[in-house]
Amino acid sequence: MKFNDTLKSIKLYEAGKPIELVVREFGVPKEKVVKLASNENPLGASKRVQEVICAYASKANLYPDDSMYELKDGLSKKFDVTSSQIAIGAGSDQVLEFISRALLGKEDSVLMSQVTFAMYEIYAKQTGAKVLKTPSYEHKVDEFLELYAEHKPKIIYLCIPNNPTGDAMKKSDAFEIIKAVDEETLVVVDCAYMEYAAYKDSTYKIEPKDILGFPNVIYLGTFSKAYGLGGMRVGYGIANEEIIQNILKMRPPFNISTLSLAAAIEALKDEAHLEQTLKLHTEQIKRYEAFAKENGIKYIESYTNFITYLFDDNLNSSDIANKLLQRGVIVRDLASYKLNAIRITIGTESQNDILFEQFLEVMDLK
Ligand SMILES: *Cc1c(COP(=O)(O)O)cnc(C)c1O
Repeated sequence: MKFNDTLKSIKLYEAGKPIELVVREFGVPKEKVVKLASNENPLGASKRVQEVICAYASKANLYPDDSMYELKDGLSKKFDVTSSQIAIGAGSDQVLEFISRALLGKEDSVLMSQVTFAMYEIYAKQTGAKVLKTPSYEHKVDEFLELYAEHKPKIIYLCIPNNPTGDAMKKSDAFEIIKAVDEETLVVVDCAYMEYAAYKDSTYKIEPKDILGFPNVIYLGTFSKAYGLGGMRVGYGIANEEIIQNILKMRPPFNISTLSLAAAIEALKDEAHLEQTLKLHTEQIKRYEAFAKENGIKYIESYTNFITYLFDDNLNSSDIANKLLQRGVIVRDLASYKLNAIRITIGTESQNDILFEQFLEVMDLK
């Protein structure tokens, strides 16, 4: 069978390893496995959300409200935008897919930073579009603008803060790029971790309404990270109506499940859980910074719910990630991004205790 040529250059997305795999392959007891690899909220979904999910179990036979009225209404109030400026996806991933399919073809190119969210490249390549990357792993304005001027890409992806590095572009830098590109190029501002960046330093805060004045910018957000709903798959895109109404043409009916929709609506109301999440994170990430300093490990200043440790040449990130895995600690090796680094999601206090303990043993520093 002959598959589309566009698939030849696509590498399968490598997701964080599940807990069950570590139990199966390394015989670590389930309760000892710590998963700090997928940037999930270590507090889980809030109690209120869990109750709503249970309450909706009896409605699993019903299709969800396809207009997603209540969720859009909640988001529109939170962000001071209108419901017609919002598209809901099965994760913001699905909104990324809508965008690619609505805009890209074989003649087009897209531009992103050297090391960034892997799905931008995959969705673009599915359409046959060419992928351009800046030389640096940080988002640098001059590098983006130089490649923009040369290639006039159809889409520019700004991941603010960036995954998998954790650093964040300054708001003023992002707007320098936004203002410099013309209407033929869509700028995707992916703010999957914006809650963390805004909490850490409000000068980094970008809000959907900041970009609505531009006809060619879309803001993406998700319930998967700070809201603790990774397993429910709900994300959103916010932009002016013309963009939203066009990308929605790519949406399959009922793309969010009844349970997911109910969970997201409740999560949005539960501000106490979000606050608790951000507080815990802020306390715990300080421990990771201190741990790195004590042990002579370099790290990237993080604006997200994870931290990236960078190793010198005498250490190998894949080696460290594998040894941790065998001990039941799952982290993300960044070797496939050509970084000698690992990305660690900040866990609960006790999860982090386990990571530090195992890390020291693996590094033979004890
Ligand atoms: C997690 C993440 C997303 C989307 O996650 P969904 O679960 O699909 O909403 C998007 N962009 C970045 C950078 C992410 O890290």
